Amino acid sequence: MFCLHKTTHKATITKVRFTEDPIPFKPEKNTKPVLSHGESNRRKAFHSNPVETNKNQKIECYPKSESDEKIIKKALEENDFLKKVMSEDNVQLIVQAMQLKTVKPNEVIIKQGDKGNAIYISSKGTFEVIVNGETKVTFTDQRVFGELALINDAKRLSTVKALSEGAIWCLDRKTYQLIVALNNSNKEEDLFQFLQTVDKLNSKGADTLRVVANLLREAFFEADSKIVREGDPGQLFYIIRAGSVTVSKVNEGIIGKLHKGDCFGELALQNEDIRQATVTAEAPGVDCLTLNRFDFQNYFGDIKITDISVQKLKSINEVQPEYMDLPLKDLTILGILGTGGFGRVELAQSKKKKQLVFALKRIAKFTIVLEEKQQHAYNEKYIQLNSVSPFIIRLYRTYKTKKYIYFLMEPCLGGDLFGLLHRQKKLRFTNEETRFIVACVMEALFYLHVRGIIFRDLKPENVLVASNGYFKLADFGCAKKLDIDGARTYTFIGTIEYSTPEVIKGKGHNRAVDYWALGILIYELLVGRSPFFNDGPDYNKTFEKILKGIAFVKFPEHFDGCARTLVQKFCKPNPWNRLGMSKDGIAKIRGDKWFSDFNWTDLAECRMYSPFVPTLKGPTDLSHFPRQQRSSRPEPPDELSGWDKDL
Ligand code: ATP
Ligand code: MG
Repeated sequence: MFCLHKTTHKATITKVRFTEDPIPFKPEKNTKPVLSHGESNRRKAFHSNPVETNKNQKIECYPKSESDEKIIKKALEENDFLKKVMSEDNVQLIVQAMQLKTVKPNEVIIKQGDKGNAIYISSKGTFEVIVNGETKVTFTDQRVFGELALINDAKRLSTVKALSEGAIWCLDRKTYQLIVALNNSNKEEDLFQFLQTVDKLNSKGADTLRVVANLLREAFFEADSKIVREGDPGQLFYIIRAGSVTVSKVNEGIIGKLHKGDCFGELALQNEDIRQATVTAEAPGVDCLTLNRFDFQNYFGDIKITDISVQKLKSINEVQPEYMDLPLKDLTILGILGTGGFGRVELAQSKKKKQLVFALKRIAKFTIVLEEKQQHAYNEKYIQLNSVSPFIIRLYRTYKTKKYIYFLMEPCLGGDLFGLLHRQKKLRFTNEETRFIVACVMEALFYLHVRGIIFRDLKPENVLVASNGYFKLADFGCAKKLDIDGARTYTFIGTIEYSTPEVIKGKGHNRAVDYWALGILIYELLVGRSPFFNDGPDYNKTFEKILKGIAFVKFPEHFDGCARTLVQKFCKPNPWNRLGMSKDGIAKIRGDKWFSDFNWTDLAECRMYSPFVPTLKGPTDLSHFPRQQRSSRPEPPDELSGWDKDL
């Protein structure tokens, strides 16, 4: 569940695993689909550690000359990848936080295959870039290298070595993430605080104002400029943050003045009408916040605003832990169901009651501690244990030994959706089939969202086929409970092809990441590969495509028109604009045109026909899973530090 891998899809489904094979990907010649039943086809999730922010945190700054600041800024702004990822607001702080270090001839600054945790800019000296032992380029100018480390700790794709005495500027990922997170949360908090002071709006309540704070745009109007003109059609609603305006009508002259905290422009939006008056900025200019027609109607229209109800997660005691009297030693392992980033999932049978068969996932405690993923392990256990839905894999209990933690789960013998997809003749599902699968996944996500939980790792590998042909969500290694609907979290987490723009930019994210992923999933199931996949090992190209957006993605002819519109509604760059994020979000998704004749009640009660009922010879039939050898990896060392005492 925790490390970074990447899949590429050629005409054949072939893959590259970054963490093990940094050698550039070579496409295979045959055009026949390669059976996906090789573990290495599957995409693994990645995690970086959460960035905890609080207002008192300070970022260490290193004073530098004006010319050095300019050089660093230029190098950052000229880097194609950073240009897309970095927001202007953060550049100045990043410049100040970069630290100068000297380098000696032959000093290796980054090494191919090592995990990256810092970004560098050459200051002086000569440097060499080496890939697989071969020198690719030498340079003496000021340029950025190692930039992907700002996003996560994936392995370095090349080695960079100093050829002479020199100096480099460095910034580690933690500091970068802290800068982004602090800037972002400060800005959002400021807007929220300000909205609370706006008389016309504050009756809508804090939750709505927090959402709106994310949708507002800033606009500055110079003195004497006309902000809106009487008789024009209106598209925006305005809130004055600083300065003042005059309001006038052609036949009446100036009829009023508005100041900080006042709003205007609502009439044309409420009645779909034209502007009733002209509004002019007064000296020295006016600073406004604007909201578009759609968002205005959504949040400040006449209807009372109710966000999705965030129910409290049931306490652990409310869900009866099952199989508490079943000891680990009473289980026999029958075979491997799957292998993830860290874990291995096996089919296990009770020695005493042969009809009791489970999926048993185990994760080495040593690795959890090494990668500082203790909190993720706790999240995985407590969220899944408390999630009881026909669309979610049940977790019955956990075990721990000196070396491993184990998760005892309901087994799904139909295999996973990734395998099923790649066993389809055309390597894709029909529109009807896709609707059924996606509807099951939605039921699972809705279940989690109303409980304030975000899943964060939706992909076919984490959707399993149950014996009744229904689909269930598995792998809660990335899941997290947020306390309030408007809350955000900053961990860089998920699977590359399913990453969202806000996760890549480190801006903080919420349940909107799951809606984005639904869009990606619909596309992948209807096309056979995800919309932002990149043919090659360079996963920053995938990031670039994601940041460019769904508008640049080609939809094949067979792609259903309603499905396409739905994908576009889910894959909006601004998370707050995604379908599902507005009031009554879940109802809106269920009511989407693509689901127009879909019977959600039949689905929820598992009364709907499924075209995917697997043929099974019995409760231990492993035929829907790829045959896998147990690895000959040595056992991990004991881990006895005690972090898992409440696990
Ligand atoms: P990731 O790298 O995606 O985070 P992980 O280490 O968390 O993976 P899982 O996703 O939980 O591991 O499991 C890996 C694979 O094992 C799944 O893709 C699936 O094929 C199989 N698997 C997991 N749970 C079950 C289950 N309950 N029944 C059947 N197969 C399962
Ligand atoms: Mg998984």
